[in-house]
Amino acid sequence: GEHQDELGHLVNTLNAMLDNLETAYRELSDSHAAQRRFVSDVSHELKTPLTTIRGNIDLMIRMGEEQPEVRREALLDIASEVKRMSRLVSDMLVLARADAGFTIPLQPVAVDQVLEQVARQARMLSEEVDFHLHLAETCRDVKIMADPDYLRQLLLILLDNAIKYTSPQGWVELAAHCTDGRIDVQISDNGMGIDEGEINHIFERFYRLDKSRPTGGTGLGLAIASWITQQHGAKLTVKSQLHQGSVFTVTFPTVREQLIEEKIQQTEG
Ligand code: ADP
Repeated sequence: GEHQDELGHLVNTLNAMLDNLETAYRELSDSHAAQRRFVSDVSHELKTPLTTIRGNIDLMIRMGEEQPEVRREALLDIASEVKRMSRLVSDMLVLARADAGFTIPLQPVAVDQVLEQVARQARMLSEEVDFHLHLAETCRDVKIMADPDYLRQLLLILLDNAIKYTSPQGWVELAAHCTDGRIDVQISDNGMGIDEGEINHIFERFYRLDKSRPTGGTGLGLAIASWITQQHGAKLTVKSQLHQGSVFTVTFPTVREQLIEEKIQQTEG
């Protein structure tokens, strides 16, 4: 009834807003080509869930009263599209911050603690996938210059992908190896892997290998991961074989305890 009409109106308004946004950006000069493409991609990505929401609202208006099951299904669909849209918006905000030249402030962070925290979160992402944490003894008490929140976000993007793109009976491993001056954090899976020809594209915004696969992903995860990596003075590399699995490695420079103490004293004194 009334609520459904209101919801329908809201969807139409959002659609019109996206159209205006697109037109406004199209009028910007060519030097803004990259941003223009981003806005038009974003707009497209937001319109797809809006169309699904619109369709489900129509369905509820037509049949919802007599068929509670139809109504329930439609509402579940709407809920999942809304979730997808809010994921998109928060991912876009991170990238907008990156584009605006925001730099992540860094502080000394104990890597082992972050890895253990992230591992606990990764275990909750899937009940089927076999998850392992392998933390080398040499990494005990090793510190890097980082932001704990962004560091967690980076590792969770890679872990979430590993879990998403492996088979339900597959395995995922988070491992850390430390040598003098550096730490390699590896996220491995024995999932579907990535074709050699596509590997250079996966870090691009909105790039997805198989768009028809409903993974709930935004296609922005690895673009965000690249930015966070770069902000940490780290390096992100990937090795993958189709149908065999993938290994994503983040290499951070480590900070010696003594240097950290000196830095803290400098800033305090
Ligand atoms: P998405 O939201 O689609 O996961 P990402 O930017 O995180 O977007 O990843 C881009 C694409 O790279 C994914 O759509 C997927 O095709 C591919 N990909 C990322 N991680 C893996 C992995 N561990 N195994 C296989 N393919 C992957």
